[in-house]
Amino acid sequence: MGFDSSKCDFSRCRGECLTRCPYVSYDEKMAKDAIRTLISGEESPILSECITCAACNDFCPTGANPWDLIAWRQEQTDILKIPADAKPSSDWLVKPYKVRRGKPGGPLISMGGIYEVVPQEEFLKGKMFDDATLIGGGDIACGFTETHLGRASRPLKNLPAFIKNLSHAAEEFGVDEIVFTHDACYNVATTLAMSQNMEVEFRPVHILEYIRNWLKEHKDEITPLNLKAGLQGGCTTRYAPDRGDGEIWSDWTREIFEMIGVESVEANRKYTGENRLCCGSSIFHSQHERALNIQKMNIQDAIDAGAERYVFICPACIAIMRMTCRKLNLEPVYITQLVRLALGEDIGEAGMAAFGYPVR
Ligand code: SF4
Ligand code: SF4
Repeated sequence: MGFDSSKCDFSRCRGECLTRCPYVSYDEKMAKDAIRTLISGEESPILSECITCAACNDFCPTGANPWDLIAWRQEQTDILKIPADAKPSSDWLVKPYKVRRGKPGGPLISMGGIYEVVPQEEFLKGKMFDDATLIGGGDIACGFTETHLGRASRPLKNLPAFIKNLSHAAEEFGVDEIVFTHDACYNVATTLAMSQNMEVEFRPVHILEYIRNWLKEHKDEITPLNLKAGLQGGCTTRYAPDRGDGEIWSDWTREIFEMIGVESVEANRKYTGENRLCCGSSIFHSQHERALNIQKMNIQDAIDAGAERYVFICPACIAIMRMTCRKLNLEPVYITQLVRLALGEDIGEAGMAAFGYPVR
């Protein structure tokens, strides 16, 4: 993480960082000029055109991390001018601490600061979570959302307190692992902490890894759903620890889908893998029509590929896209709810996607 100017070698690339960005139309010269301008400390239109999806870090063939350069300059210039009504997400850093106690010896699950975006407590019910203790609040929020608000340095500044508070929680509840419901927190506790050589005393576990492992031990309780689904991989999935031979979050999802009888349509999609599209949350307030158009393009692509459901692993993505999914007649569903259906469970008041569900 962090822009590496020594790797930004114009002779070894074709400006893929921005020529492949699906939200602008840059040719190679424009792309290289824009990056050169940012490196020189000047402003470039890409700063306000960028929707903060982080994809260009994946597109750059030399590993220079151009998104980190863009994010850093967005913060320096305050160019995003985020309106006041988009600020509540930064309140996640000051959300009150809350605990739902499970059984002694059960897993500890952190909801971070976003437990109100979708009803996390409702989504974390049923057999898979019966024993789990849930914790949430600003003290254990990673602050990653700030990267969408032109304050990309916040997760790094917040990192020592984030890890320290989670370590205290692990000690308090007598566990050596913490499961994260959002991959932003997981990635900060893994990728970002590793990049800073920070020791993490507990083992971070991704919610998908937890579900995959649970299902492996309870295969006889699964009734296959026999349906086809698309998958929304959020921006934060792009920060998953590098395994070298694929994306760990999509491998876990593939295993989960196989076990619950869901056929992924991702292989038939245009907007998948590195080319997956953003939910549009960063511009939902400031450039509403543009955000909706991105969502429609994305969801229609899944429908054209044969999807009967659209599966989300990020609470923010589902909260921001569920209306458009419903308008296009593709049922949105959060991953835990999908799995609970395969376990024959009543998925409760939250239903398929918290649509119309009162946010408490
Ligand atoms: S960030 Fe990567 S793709 Fe973009 S100009 Fe630099 S080396 Fe090329
Ligand atoms: S972060 Fe996303 S939107 Fe911004 S320039 Fe990179 S690819 Fe484009």
